[in-house]
Amino acid sequence: MAVKGWVEINETLCKGCEICVHYCPVNVLALDEHRLTPQGYHPAVLVSDGCTGCMVCAIVCPEAAITVYREERPRRAKARASATRERSHDT
Ligand code: SF4
Ligand code: SF4
Repeated sequence: MAVKGWVEINETLCKGCEICVHYCPVNVLALDEHRLTPQGYHPAVLVSDGCTGCMVCAIVCPEAAITVYREERPRRAKARASATRERSHDT
């Protein structure tokens, strides 16, 4: 199963340069033409599902304005849940 991700864009730092928009391999970023940042730029926003959490946008952003989050892989989450169950049986 593909890893799901999402991003948070710090609009105080974003300068609307669009670099992240061009580099996102799944085209889920765009500039929000209807809003302005405190500095007067159109901010980058996540516009649809499909972010894989690849971090390309965060790496290329010259302002370090993007934080990427990734959903935990189901298999690892399952293993952790079962370990928790085992521990609770021990007590
Ligand atoms: S983490 Fe990857 S897929 Fe998600 S918005 Fe950034 S570049 Fe696109
Ligand atoms: S690369 Fe960074 S500064 Fe440029 S639009 Fe994207 S988030 Fe904003």
